[in-house]
Amino acid sequence: MSIDQALIEKITLEILTKMQTGAKAAPAGYGDGIFETVDEAVAAARKAYQELKTLSLEKREVLIKAMRDVAYENATILAQMAVDESGMGRVSDKIIKNQVAALKTPGTEDLTTQAWSGDNGLTLIEMGPYGVIGAITPTTNPTETVICNGIGMIAAGNTVFFSPHPTAKNTSMKIITLLNQAIVKAGGPNNLLTSVANPSIKAANEMMKHPGINMLVATGGPGVVKAVLSSGKKAIGAGAGNPPVIVDETADIEKAARDIVAGCSFDNNLPCIAEKEVIAIGSIADRLITYMQKYGAYLISGSNIDRLLDVIMTVQEEKIAEGCTDKPKRSYGINKDYVGKDAKYLLSKIGIDVPDSVRVVLCETPADHPFVIEELMMPVLPVVQVKDIDEAIEVAVRVEHGNRHTAAMHSKNVDHLTRFARAVETTIFVKNAPSYAGIGVGGEGFTSFTLAGPTGEGITSPRSFTRQRRCVLVDAFSIV
Ligand code: NAD
Repeated sequence: MSIDQALIEKITLEILTKMQTGAKAAPAGYGDGIFETVDEAVAAARKAYQELKTLSLEKREVLIKAMRDVAYENATILAQMAVDESGMGRVSDKIIKNQVAALKTPGTEDLTTQAWSGDNGLTLIEMGPYGVIGAITPTTNPTETVICNGIGMIAAGNTVFFSPHPTAKNTSMKIITLLNQAIVKAGGPNNLLTSVANPSIKAANEMMKHPGINMLVATGGPGVVKAVLSSGKKAIGAGAGNPPVIVDETADIEKAARDIVAGCSFDNNLPCIAEKEVIAIGSIADRLITYMQKYGAYLISGSNIDRLLDVIMTVQEEKIAEGCTDKPKRSYGINKDYVGKDAKYLLSKIGIDVPDSVRVVLCETPADHPFVIEELMMPVLPVVQVKDIDEAIEVAVRVEHGNRHTAAMHSKNVDHLTRFARAVETTIFVKNAPSYAGIGVGGEGFTSFTLAGPTGEGITSPRSFTRQRRCVLVDAFSIV
């Protein structure tokens, strides 16, 4: 694309944004939920909470419908903004993620009441709101998480202070602003969703300690999950994954190859649920690799694997005492500059030119290779060959690191499927489909972009953001 074309597209997008929302694009003078300080944002969310409490469930649903509509209508613009600002992911896939968050996040129907009636009257347990929730969102799903958490938390009667990742700040402000405007237009209170114009780790820490915040929900890596769990407040932690996918000899190998390429390359592997490494039984591994190449994977080998590692990973070598003959231990991290980039771009960095149709960089590695061990969040997919299902399960469980996040398997053997599911104990286990089926994209069930493995809420929904409250009436209202 020439610079002129890129500029024209950017300007068109800005004009479209303004036309579609009929409002100011982002913070500039603030308003619509965006404040200068954490104190102001929390105070506004607390006031909005009191106002929300006066509304009926029916009205809450009207507001949620308005949120769904505005998120759906702006799915494309938000996707483009997220890719432009964060430099990560694929616009076409982010559009799908925004749409799914808008359509498939549950609303107030998720709140259910339990009742006991008998000789002593009637007892109810109802799902009530927490108050103001502090929600910390990742750079990898900046708008999807705000849409999904926003709908779910408001459906449960809460208001929200969002603490977005600074690298996706404008995009996050945009969706918060749009949702607030839609709520007000539908007759709801302003500031059901709030944030600060300049999010930072410092602001996130201030929010976590703020007495006006009743509950914390962190969607991100291990650091932020640890931070909320150490806060002394009720917290939900949705942390990192490293999903393995096993392919055994009974699978439909061509379909497995197509599904794995589709799942691994979805939004350039940013989703925490995306396939991060393949464990293939030796007898079918070559056929699987051939089919994966047919469906958009590009196979590299030998020194090209080492060269790619040098580009996309950081290496630290342990210092060893003088005279020691032991090899120094190496630890690897990811080079954030390459997270969520296209396969074509990654390959260009090692001098390989491929067409746009290439979606995944494929390579064969041993099970202890850094590409297998680290959560890369790039469309780089190592394939580990194993001799049988026992070894496949042992390797897959090991490289999932006990995150208990997501795993997938392609097999027609019910015993193999059951054994792996039991051994890996993940929050999501996908059988014979791309990993995204696990969050309702081409699979049944509601969606969520906050998958709380560490704290056990699983695929979060409005009920995850409620307090259980018991109401007891003795000697009445039992009508039998
Ligand atoms: P990240 O952990 O760097 O940041 C996530 C959020 O936490 C950001 O808003 C960041 O500003 C904030 N943050 C980070 N450290 C913090 C600290 N010490 N105190 C306060 N706030 C802190 O992650 P990321 O790169 O934005 O997202 C990718 C990670 O998130 C991956 O590990 C991925 O697996 C995980 N993720 C998990 C889920 C899930 O539902 N389980 C969903 C999406 C992403």
